[in-house]
Amino acid sequence: AKNEGAGKIKVFRQWMLDKLQESRTLEHDMAVALVNKEFVVYYQPIVDSFSREIYSYEALIRWIHPLKGLLSPDSFIPVAEKTGMINEMGKSVLEMACREAACWAVPAKISVNVSPVQLSSKAFAGIVLSILKETGLPADRLELEVTESSLFTESNTPINTLNKLREWGVKISIDDFGTGYSSLSRMSKIAFDKIKIDKSFVSSISTQEDTLNIIKLITGMAKSLNMKAVAEGVETQEQLESLQALGCDLAQGYLFGKPQPYIDRKIRYGEITSI
Ligand code: C2E
Ligand code: CA
Ligand code: CA
Ligand code: CA
Repeated sequence: AKNEGAGKIKVFRQWMLDKLQESRTLEHDMAVALVNKEFVVYYQPIVDSFSREIYSYEALIRWIHPLKGLLSPDSFIPVAEKTGMINEMGKSVLEMACREAACWAVPAKISVNVSPVQLSSKAFAGIVLSILKETGLPADRLELEVTESSLFTESNTPINTLNKLREWGVKISIDDFGTGYSSLSRMSKIAFDKIKIDKSFVSSISTQEDTLNIIKLITGMAKSLNMKAVAEGVETQEQLESLQALGCDLAQGYLFGKPQPYIDRKIRYGEITSI
């Protein structure tokens, strides 16, 4: 039995070493990828729940890996956050997304995800401002999506940064609402524009009665705080109808469109404004 234990430790040690090696090469590959411009942005529409008019497009990063093909953010964002590379990567997403949105004929917003790591950097507000200047995108067409965990820190930098950005006209939304630790007292220090209801709630809307009440609670809270509520991961007409009944203003999901590397030219040129 003793030997068995030692064997297990050995296997575990090897597993740890493999993981370490894996993340090291991933880190190296990512640095190369940034230089080679292998990161691209996909766009997914967010629409008015009733009129289906386009409200914004969310920018979602993808890695076109030369050997592994299309990689989704969940496979590399955590490593990018650990190594700090997310700062560079996030700046590049912001640049690409603002440049793209600046040339649309429709005044739809562009929503860009911001990592807690980026928000805790004192340089972030200045970076956003210089990208807006450089691309000519009006500040009120940029919306930043931040998670509750961004505010779950001792430092005041994230809150100060968000308030500064908001004063300049940039919109701020809370992403994945209801899935993390919320600190209502911290959240109340920022006037958010929008709350995104996590797709885990939307997918269980017809099977779990509690879910309806949670969504009702969130949309009610949004209304009374003068924010918009948006549901993500809307896949069926049935889900949309429930969300409409619950007073959810905006919706995003495969029902309206999957993330794509381009914007439909009819929308881009303003020939149509809804989906
Ligand atoms: P998120 O911000 O919550 O984005 C929503 C995710 O749900 C996206 O996954 C989107 O493709 C997916 N989705 C949208 N509609 C549906 C639907 O109807 N059904 C289902 N099953 N899924 C749907 P994606 O693109 O893989 O992104 C995953 C996460 O990676 C994002 O979650 C976000 O947290 C992060 N992320 C993506 N791009 C960036 C970025 O540029 N910077 C940072 N910091 N994080 C990013
Ligand atoms: Ca998001
Ligand atoms: Ca989300
Ligand atoms: Ca998410």
